[in-house]
Amino acid sequence: MLVHHYLEFYTQTSADAPCYSFNGTTLSYQDTNDSVNRLANGLLDLGVKQEQRVAILGENSLEHCLLFMATSKIGAVAVPLNYRLAAAELAYIINDSETHVLIVLDSMADTLAALRPHLSPSIHLITESQNDSLHWSEWLEKYPTTKPQIDVDQYAPFLQLYTSGTTGNPKGVVINHFNVVQLSTMSLLGSPTRVSRGSAGIVVAPLFHIGGVGSAIMGVCFGQHTLVHQTFDPIKLLDDIEKYPVGNMFMVPAMIMFLLQMPGIEKRDFSKLEIVSYGASPISETVLRQAIDVFQCEFMQLYGMTETTGGGVALLPSDHRRALAGRPELLRSCGKPMVGAEIKIVDEAGNSVAADEVGEIWIKSDTNMMRYHNLPEATAKDLTDGWVHTGDAGYLDSEGYLYLKDRIKDMVVSGGENIYPVEVENAVAKHEAVADVAVIGIPDDKFGEALLAVVVLKPEHTLTAEEMVEFCRDKIAGYKIPRQLDIIAELPRNPSGKILKKILREPYWKNSERGIG
Ligand code: ATP
Ligand code: MG
Repeated sequence: MLVHHYLEFYTQTSADAPCYSFNGTTLSYQDTNDSVNRLANGLLDLGVKQEQRVAILGENSLEHCLLFMATSKIGAVAVPLNYRLAAAELAYIINDSETHVLIVLDSMADTLAALRPHLSPSIHLITESQNDSLHWSEWLEKYPTTKPQIDVDQYAPFLQLYTSGTTGNPKGVVINHFNVVQLSTMSLLGSPTRVSRGSAGIVVAPLFHIGGVGSAIMGVCFGQHTLVHQTFDPIKLLDDIEKYPVGNMFMVPAMIMFLLQMPGIEKRDFSKLEIVSYGASPISETVLRQAIDVFQCEFMQLYGMTETTGGGVALLPSDHRRALAGRPELLRSCGKPMVGAEIKIVDEAGNSVAADEVGEIWIKSDTNMMRYHNLPEATAKDLTDGWVHTGDAGYLDSEGYLYLKDRIKDMVVSGGENIYPVEVENAVAKHEAVADVAVIGIPDDKFGEALLAVVVLKPEHTLTAEEMVEFCRDKIAGYKIPRQLDIIAELPRNPSGKILKKILREPYWKNSERGIG
């Protein structure tokens, strides 16, 4: 099965039901299918062949959603680009992916001006500007709404998503149709009662990140009405949550934290909200408890990566309920493998370790990527016998629940002890003055590395290093307590909410002989 089969099925069974809404425009399933067919026919007319790349640059939009369905129909590969990247970085990805057609939305006019000189003349450029020969809406109107007759293999590439670039340069992850269909099955079986036909979906995560793409496509697989938000706008989000029965919404922890800090949040009506899915970076137990308290809905945590199409492991709604009913440690777990997935924890030689022992997390899943595009060495290193090597450290408890420690690259070695900053961040985050925190390793003459807590304070609060040390004493072992504290206004994050520790570490390591830790 391919994702456009769902679109065609619902067009047949409920043509007038709303499919996608965006900034006041609503397309029914019939409208969506018609536009998708036009786009598919248009791309074919531009010479797009199976497996050729069609990139799109812009904030979240309907065009993204139409493109995902159209590439499904003709076997082309959609490459949604990170709109925050600089022109040179975008040019690198456009060349790397051998993009045949590039769609650039209005919101990117300035970026496009800087990007134009880098674009090969062979790329077909579709824009929303009347000055360009391929003007999106006029171009699209020319094509018929008839379905293109093309046979597409479910194991052929469907999406090429770039990793977030948290630990190095973003890598192009090639995902096939089966991976994405399987992701929707995984999610459906994870929260069966909540993904009902009458419920709506909201896409607030960026559509170039698997969290966004995944929800936008799953909306169609579930026959839902999907509200696509151009960017993360907390007021608009809260308004939509009050208005619609939301059964499919993925947020990164940074968004949840932001919502919880909104003035008047306690007066908002969350009675229609069915479920919040979250993941992509660690959530502190404090924030999670607060979210459960405020939203009063089901929660599902997803642990995965671009390389696993975002799927793999989930802390299900039932696990959250179990946690609240007397197993509080489960709130610190990211759950168990989802349907079609397995996990193992391995040592440096790749051998499985015992329960409760920390090692690298490997995932084997029906959602595992095909390969990294044009990176055979990286593919051979990180994908062996069907197992994706996550680069994350963690352990399984005796019941098979996965506990994440941190990225192996973020581990701090201080005085010979391995310290995983996430654990330390969770302790510091419990302090009432702390709104946000990142812990990094900085050079230290005595211990090799020492811990530094970089803290954002809540308004009208103060915190000293001594107070922080005192506060952490009964929460974590002495060697894990950061002795140094930096207070800053905001943590650097990328658009998918991940803290950019490289940026925090840089000033401390730039004069060190050992390079960035
Ligand atoms: P790059 O691979 O380019 O450095 P990245 O790993 O940040 O970037 P993504 O594929 O977007 O790119 O993110 C996957 C990573 O996100 C995982 O390896 C893990 O470290 C983190 N992550 C995902 N889900 C969770 C979760 N539920 N809790 C904590 N961390 C998570
Ligand atoms: Mg990664």
